[in-house]
This record gives sequence, C-alpha cells and structure tokens, in this order.
Amino acid sequence: FDFLSQTDPELTAIIGRERQRQQEHLELIASENFTSPAVMAAQGSVLTNKYAEGLPSKRYYGGCEFVDQAEALAIERIKQLFGAAHANVQPHSGAQANFAVFLALLQPGDTILGMDLSHGGHLTHGSPVNVSGKWFNVVQYGVSKDTEQLDYDAIRELALEHRPKIIICGYSAYPRTIHFDKFRAIADEVDAYLMADIAHIAGLVAAGKHPNPLPHCHVVTTTTHKTLRGPRGGLIMTNDLDLGKKFDKAVFPGSQGGPLEHVIAAKAVAFGEALQPDFKTYCAQVIANAQAMAAQLQERGIKVVSDGTDNHLVLVDLRSIGMTGKQADALVSMVNITANKNTVPFDPESPFVTSGLRLGSPAMTTRGLGVEEFKEIANIIADRLLSPEDSKVEADCRKRVAALCDRFPLYAHLQSAEPV
Ligand code: PLP
Repeated sequence: FDFLSQTDPELTAIIGRERQRQQEHLELIASENFTSPAVMAAQGSVLTNKYAEGLPSKRYYGGCEFVDQAEALAIERIKQLFGAAHANVQPHSGAQANFAVFLALLQPGDTILGMDLSHGGHLTHGSPVNVSGKWFNVVQYGVSKDTEQLDYDAIRELALEHRPKIIICGYSAYPRTIHFDKFRAIADEVDAYLMADIAHIAGLVAAGKHPNPLPHCHVVTTTTHKTLRGPRGGLIMTNDLDLGKKFDKAVFPGSQGGPLEHVIAAKAVAFGEALQPDFKTYCAQVIANAQAMAAQLQERGIKVVSDGTDNHLVLVDLRSIGMTGKQADALVSMVNITANKNTVPFDPESPFVTSGLRLGSPAMTTRGLGVEEFKEIANIIADRLLSPEDSKVEADCRKRVAALCDRFPLYAHLQSAEPV
C-alpha cells in the first residue's frame, strides 16, 4: 500500500475518502457487501499480470501452470459449495454470465420468459434497454397483486401460451423464497430450459438457508460479490456436462477474451471462506437481521412488500406513508444511510421516481450488527421518513447512525494501516 501512496498520492487520497465513506455510512444496498482483506489481497496480487485465454490445462498461452492451479481451486470449491457437476468461473460479472448462457442456448428471435424489472427482475432478463430485450422475444411475468409473491399458476399459463425456449427465475428485488421445483415442472411441460440467476441469494443458498437451484435447473448463474461476499464477478454452474461445454465456449471465445485470473484467485478465497462453518452463522444472521428490520418497519406503520422477508432484503412500499422512493432515498442519505430507490410491484411511479426503497442486511451483518441494531436501523429510518421536515429528528438520526458505525468499525484490524 506504500507503493500506491508513494507513486500516486492523488489516487491514494481518493481511496482513503471512499474508505472513510464506507466506515461512516450505514450500507444497506442489498447487492453490496464488505469482502475480506484476504479476498482483496488475492485480487491485488501478481496474478493480474497473466494472460490465460482458455481453460485450466487447455490454454493458448505459456506460463499458465500456476494460474491453472488457482482457477482449478476456484472451480473445485464452487462445485463443492453448490453440489454442481460443472462450473465456469471466468465471467467478469453477473451480466456477462447471463449473456454467455443466452449465447449458448438461444438464437436471436427466440422467446424468453423472465420477471418484469418493475416486479423485481434484472435488466438482463429481458429489459428492452438490454441486449436480452433487443435480441429476443420477451414475455414477462410478475408477482400476484394480492400476495406480492410469485404466482406459479399464472407463470405456467404464460409458459403454455408463449412456449419460451428458456424460463428465467432469480431476482434483484424479491424478498421471498423461490421454489425451483415448481419452475422446473413448468419448464418440463413446455420443453424449455430453466435458468436460475441467484446473484442476490447465492450466499444464502451456499449456506443452506435457501433451496438450492442446482438439482432443478439446467443452468445457474450468479454474481460473486453480494451475499456470497467475494470479489466483483460472475460464474455459471450446471449439472449437465454437455451444456457445460457449451457454456465454456460461450464465455471464451464467445463473449470474453482473457479471464481475470487475479479476480478468479480472489473468488477461490471467497469460496474457501464460504465453505467454513461460520459462513452458515453469518447467513443465518443476515436473514434474522432483515426480518427484524422488516418487522420493526411494519410496527412503525411502514409497509414492506409481501409483509416480510425470507432472505436478505426488504422492499419498503412508501405508498403506505405517501412518499416516493426518490424522496425517501434523499432523506435517508442525508443521515448517512446508503440504500436505493426501487420500483415496487404495480408501481404507479416512473423508474426514476418509484414508490419503493430497497434495503439489505448483508453488508452491515458483515460488520457485526445483530437483531437489536437492525431494529434500531428500522427505527432511525422510520423516524426520518415520518418526520421529513424536522431538523432535530434529522440531527438525532445522524447521531444514531454515527454511533452504530463507530461501534462496529469497518476492517477494525486494518484501522492502523495506511488507507487501502
Ligand atoms: N443478476 C441479478 C439478479 C442481479 O441482481 C445483478 C446485479 O445486480 C446481476 C445479474 C448483474 O450483475 P453485475 O452487476 O455483476 O453484472
């Protein structure tokens, strides 16, 4: 780290400011986490220097014997974590992993069935602004208006009517358990591939706190940086070895060049961490914390979508207090709480305004916060949103956020080191 401050003080100062921001804010973005210093060390290693097109032991470059070992280790560990027969750990991101799957299984013009972005789906599942929406004939499902949960009968009817080539489940803003077995029954009925994108819940699945899609899906994609708590990146898994070969080709040379071997090494570290018993404890705490936050918000008269959560995220329905997501996002950010505005199912507002606020527990659970602290977070948010004009409440909320951040320092054991 001395190297950086000596050669580039300007950038060192920027990183220092970002580190301070992370320390002084309550990080509630559901897709973020704090990765371990070991993961960051692997990512900052000499492996960044190596070109390694191809797969372990089948490279187009010399000198790959050690990056081969690192990549093989990442593959072995992720297969063990999810009980997968085949894995490709090279996708640079979740979007790249999804694109590679589409490239392997679909032709332009094919029909895909995915969840509507405004109900909790992801851009890469058929949004008109994404390649998935531009190249394919997209049919979208949503949640039921009554329960705000998946309606498998309605999804089945859409599948029977449109006969998609692939059905996509797995979401960015869905707080409930996904029943992959029910999706598989629908996929089989219409002879479609079933793909699960478990970017958000991957850690919970790995820890056995959410059903595992591997036994039911033709293909599973994920990011590695959310509940799984690794470096930023993506990966693809399958139990079908023939499909596995297609996915490998679709990643390279289909849609990527040289893999990021330093990131793959960091993935291996994170998968090793997720295999430890304390990762199960962490994930159980992530869910308990999200549930405590949801219950306390409801207690304060602020509705959450589907009236609760089974996972790491809570989607606040601000229509219950006559506020928009844009307003709520601005109000909480003024007291150093980082979250994001988000559409709620059947949202009357535009995606730039929205009626929701998405909150997640993974990052602050990593910093050590428990149920009592998450109740306090819900109370701070409720106080702020219910008295938006009150400057005394605002100052009080800011003080309470600072107290929590001080009690649970980020990377406590690194505090004396130079900014990383
Ligand atoms: N899939 C889902 C369900 C996501 O929530 C996200 C990111 O938020 C992605 C894919 C995309 O991941 P990335 O940002 O790494 O491309």
